[in-house]
Amino acid sequence: MAEFKWLKKPPAFQFFTDSPDSGWPECVCSICNQMIQEDEMPLRLWPQSNPNIEARLCEKCQTEYLGIQHFKDVEEEDHDTI
Ligand SMILES: [Zn+2]
Repeated sequence: MAEFKWLKKPPAFQFFTDSPDSGWPECVCSICNQMIQEDEMPLRLWPQSNPNIEARLCEKCQTEYLGIQHFKDVEEEDHDTI
């Protein structure tokens, strides 16, 4: 994960041996431990040394720790013609 530049170091970082889809109760964030909602796009990370485990970040932590922004509503905007 050396290619990621952390905005700030996560206080804790958990790895999982499973890989549930977002929206499942088992799909929790590696940092804040909160369930990742179905409409979120989790960021999944595998350590190079062990591809059998993954860490996943909820959108809130992606923004907070990695500075990744999610713009969800852009496509739903009305485009009025003149
Ligand atoms: Zn989180």
